[in-house]
Amino acid sequence: MQISALNIIIPENFRYSCLPNCAVCCAGWNIDVDEEAYKNFSKFDWEKISKKFVGKKKFIEENNKKYFELVDGKCIFLDDDKYCLLHKKLGFDTKTSTCKIYPFKFIKTADGIIVRLSFVCPSIIKNTGIPLEEQLLEIKKLAALKPERMRQIDETVAVNEDFKIGWSDYKKLENFILNLLKTGDNYESSLKLAAKYLRIVLEELQKKENASLISEILEKIDKKILFVRMDPFREKKEKDDTFNKKQRLYYALFVGYKFVGQSKISSFKKIGNLVKLIIKNGTLELNGKKFDVSRVYQTYFNVENKENMKLVKKYIEHLIFTKWHLLPTDFSTPNVISGYSLILVIYALVKWFSRAFAVLRGNSVVELCDVENAVSIVDKNYAGHITKETLFLNSPVFSKICNLLISQNNFEEIII
Ligand code: SF4
Repeated sequence: MQISALNIIIPENFRYSCLPNCAVCCAGWNIDVDEEAYKNFSKFDWEKISKKFVGKKKFIEENNKKYFELVDGKCIFLDDDKYCLLHKKLGFDTKTSTCKIYPFKFIKTADGIIVRLSFVCPSIIKNTGIPLEEQLLEIKKLAALKPERMRQIDETVAVNEDFKIGWSDYKKLENFILNLLKTGDNYESSLKLAAKYLRIVLEELQKKENASLISEILEKIDKKILFVRMDPFREKKEKDDTFNKKQRLYYALFVGYKFVGQSKISSFKKIGNLVKLIIKNGTLELNGKKFDVSRVYQTYFNVENKENMKLVKKYIEHLIFTKWHLLPTDFSTPNVISGYSLILVIYALVKWFSRAFAVLRGNSVVELCDVENAVSIVDKNYAGHITKETLFLNSPVFSKICNLLISQNNFEEIII
């Protein structure tokens, strides 16, 4: 692939430089080993380097793919000083492409290759380091490493299961939503309002059966609908009073993965955890610490807190900008309506986990550190890797439940 010819689209206001003493990306997930990396490290006598390799496999094989062996959840090649042994001993070029590319992902679209950032990386979350614009050449080189692995978005975008629009019309819709999310003081109101707009756009499109009218529809909606801002304190009280059974079921289904869906948890424990989430009673374990589920619902997430919301907004808008919601998953074919609903699920998950992390700290008010932890856990467990294998109902039943839930008209009112 010709690097100079690559049209790379970098999101604005992002910085990145790998942090010393971090290694967050070297633990807690399966890191795939490509053939080149496999050849490179197989030639080397690792047992001479460190005792930890003696009698140990360096990788595991699952479904014809190789993954680095994990020791206590960390990559076997991670040294005690938190540097990668492959990098130290053999050089950057010998690493597997996943590690070379991280924290970037590349999504091919009709406009060019969009750069998606991993919000698991603390440098991205804290926005530290060199502006991405100054790293364009390096980023282009990384994008050219494995073009065949790049995920792609169709130029024709489905609005729902049976209605499609062209790329330029989709872009108008996306810009409309992103502009809406940038205005208004209450982000939740804007998120809910955007969901309503999308449904009205769909209804209008279905009536006219002519997608070229999308600008006209957006203009009409813009004039017609009033922006109703919610009083966050009134809303908080209402939400606390109305965490009803249906809402808890939603949370159990979507929050469940971290506590219920992971393959290493026994079925018996999975069912127990699911029940705890539904009846909001009992203790669960998060990052090795126990917390009381009922306290999550009593913890305050202030949607008016500018510092906290700045990160939440940046994350949600990045997902929309990089078209995460249009990427096909194992359990769903993407469309704008269900995709945007999943964005709302992500927002709800960030809120839920922020509260859970506040509980872990023994606090009843969410602070920035809780939101940072929540965004990281949600990006790692849900936005990064949502497949039917990772969800606890490993069957098409889950996709049916998801689709049914997110197609409901009042979905956003219940979930956020
Ligand atoms: S998580 Fe980010 S900052 Fe930390 S080691 Fe990985 S790339 Fe570097």
